[in-house]
Amino acid sequence: MGINIAIDGPSGAGKSTIAKAIAKKIQYVYVDTGALYRSIALFMIRNSVDVKDAEAVASNLEGLDVKLGYVDGSQRVILNGEDVSELIRTPEISMGASAVSAIPRVREFLFDLQQNIARENNILMDGRDIGTVVLPNADVKIFLTASAEKRAERRFKELQEKGDTSTYEEVLEDIIKRDYNDTHREIAPLKKADDAIEVDSSEMSLDEVVAHISGIITEKLDGEKKNKTQREMMPVNPIDKTAKLGFFRSLGYNFVRICVKLAFKIWYKIEFVGKENIPKKGGHIFASTHRSYADPVFLAIAGRTPLSFMAKEELFQGNKFFAWLIGWLGAFPVKRGKGDTEAIDRAIEELNKGRNLIIFPEGTRSKDGKVGKIKTGVALIGAVAQATIVPTAIIFEGKLKFRKKIILAFAPPVEPSELGVNSTSARELKILKNRISDDINNLVNENVNKL
Ligand code: C5P
Repeated sequence: MGINIAIDGPSGAGKSTIAKAIAKKIQYVYVDTGALYRSIALFMIRNSVDVKDAEAVASNLEGLDVKLGYVDGSQRVILNGEDVSELIRTPEISMGASAVSAIPRVREFLFDLQQNIARENNILMDGRDIGTVVLPNADVKIFLTASAEKRAERRFKELQEKGDTSTYEEVLEDIIKRDYNDTHREIAPLKKADDAIEVDSSEMSLDEVVAHISGIITEKLDGEKKNKTQREMMPVNPIDKTAKLGFFRSLGYNFVRICVKLAFKIWYKIEFVGKENIPKKGGHIFASTHRSYADPVFLAIAGRTPLSFMAKEELFQGNKFFAWLIGWLGAFPVKRGKGDTEAIDRAIEELNKGRNLIIFPEGTRSKDGKVGKIKTGVALIGAVAQATIVPTAIIFEGKLKFRKKIILAFAPPVEPSELGVNSTSARELKILKNRISDDINNLVNENVNKL
C-alpha cells in the first residue's frame, strides 16, 4: 500500500494543475480521475449513445477498456488502445463526463481501477469523491475550492489559449451546471470529507496554492511519521485469553443485561446478523460503527461477557452518580484528539481481565449512518494484545425511536496473527486497519437494504 493523497473539489478549482505540480515535486504518481469519466463520455458520444441514458451507457460499458499510462511522468489515458488524452479536453466532453459520472454502473466500473492504482503506488489522486468514497483511508485529504466566477475566468483563459471559441458566460454557465450535477447526484456526490482540509484558492496565485498545499501535506505526513514511530515502539504483549471475570460480577451484570434486553426488544425491532460471530468468552474486541449513545447497550445485549468501552473524559466530570454508573457498566475515560497511551494501556488491561472491549474506530458518531474513516487505534490495540477483533455494524435509518428497526451485524472474527500481524509496524497496522474497514463497510452495504 502506498501513501495516498486525495484532492477533491469542484470543476476548475485548479486541482489538476496543482496536483500535477505537487506530485512532480514529491515524486508521486499523479492520477487524474476526471480523465477516466471523460474517456467514457468520449466513447459513448462516438458511438452515438445518449450520455444521459443510464441503461444505454451501462450496457455499452462492456465494449470499453480504459487504462492509465505514464509517458515521461505525465498521465495518458488509453481508450481501447488509443491515446485519447487530448481529445477528452473539450467542453462537450466535460458536460458528457458530468452526465455519465452520475450513473452508478459507471462509478462501479471505475472504482476498482482507481483503488488498484492507489494500492500499488504513492499517489496523489484528484477527483470529486476520492476522499469520501474511493480512498476513505487516504493519508492526506485536501478539498480545493474557488468561487465559480474565478474558476470560470481560469477555464476561459485556458480554452482561449487552445483556440476554443466559447464565451466567458458560456464557460461560467457550464461550471455552474456541472457544480449542480456533481453536488446533487445521488451517488458519490461532490462533498468535503469530514477529515479533509479545505483550501480556497480564489485569492491565491498558482504558486501560492502549490506552496500552501505542499506545506499541509508535509506537516500531515511528518505528524503521521511521528505517530508511526511511536506506535512501532509499542511492544507486543499478548493478553491472557483464559482470564474470566468473577462469578458474582458476571451474575450482577447479566441480571441487569437481561432486563435491559427485554426492554430494548419491546422498544425496538432488533435483528441480529452473524450471531454466531459474537464471542462467547472475554478478551475480544468489537470494532463497531457508532450511530448513537445507545450503541454500548446494543452491543451489551448481544453477548454475556461484560464489556468495556472508552467514553469521552467530559462524561466523567459531570454528575457523580452518572459517572459511577457508566464506570460500573464498563466505561473508562479517554482524552479525545490526543494519542492517549493511558487509554490504550487501560483498554488492554480490561481485555486481560476477561472483559470484551468495544472500540468505535471512526472516533466520532455518524449521524447519517455512513461509515467514516477508520483510525489506527483499533489495529494498534488488536496488534499489541493479539486480540481477536469482531467487525460490527449497528445499522438503522434516521434517528432512534419507538419500534425502529435496528440491525446488529457481526462479521467473522479477525485474528491479527492470521493476517501476519505480529508487530506494531506501520505496514502491519495498515493491513489490520484496512481489513477491519473493509469488513465493516461490507456489513453495512450488505444489510442496509434490509431496513
Ligand atoms: O475533473 P474533471 O473536470 O476532468 O472531471 C470531469 C467530470 O467527471 C466532472 O464534472 C465530474 O462530474 C466527473 N468526476 C467525478 N468523479 C471524479 C472525477 C470526475 O464524478 N472522481
